[in-house]
Amino acid sequence: PAPIVAVVGRPNVGKSTLVNRIIGRRQAVVEDIPGVTRDRVPYDAQWSGRRFTVVDTGGWEPDAKDRAAAIANQAEIAVGTADVVLFVVDATVGSTDVDEAAVKMLRRSAKPVLLVANKADNANIELEATSLWSLGLGEPMPVSALHGRGSGDLLDAILEAL
Ligand code: GDP
Ligand code: MG
Repeated sequence: PAPIVAVVGRPNVGKSTLVNRIIGRRQAVVEDIPGVTRDRVPYDAQWSGRRFTVVDTGGWEPDAKDRAAAIANQAEIAVGTADVVLFVVDATVGSTDVDEAAVKMLRRSAKPVLLVANKADNANIELEATSLWSLGLGEPMPVSALHGRGSGDLLDAILEAL
């Protein structure tokens, strides 16, 4: 079976947009309203002749209740089944308490994690993204899922991590 890459992070950081960028088609639902993706949604992806499955999730929030808790639980299951995790952060916002809580969850999983600094649409934001080193997940990879900036480097890093 193809290796699995799970995409997790706070709602609205651009996970589904990134999934579409990775698979090269607009299939994952992108929404300005958080919470559209509720489950784990797998898509076939390919890069440099290697196939993998990329799993979109609905966003992870600590101490979430009811429906949000169910969505967060799906994200944790996705991490548990993944070979590599893409942890997506909004580079225009920087790291938040929720991001730091998610990092703890990711550490517990002991899975290899790539830190994606998304919405790095220009060189200035890309520079600001270096502050995300503070999350302790290694080098932040600046990407603009919307415009494609940095996505080739990210895909190369995914293949290296698989
Ligand atoms: P998700 O909730 O994490 O899946 O986020 P979505 O993919 O649904 O995106 C949420 C919003 O962020 C949408 O309005 C996207 O167009 C926007 N967005 C996603 N990626 C980028 C990006 O790289 N740059 C900018 N400027 N906006 C983005
Ligand atoms: Mg989404």
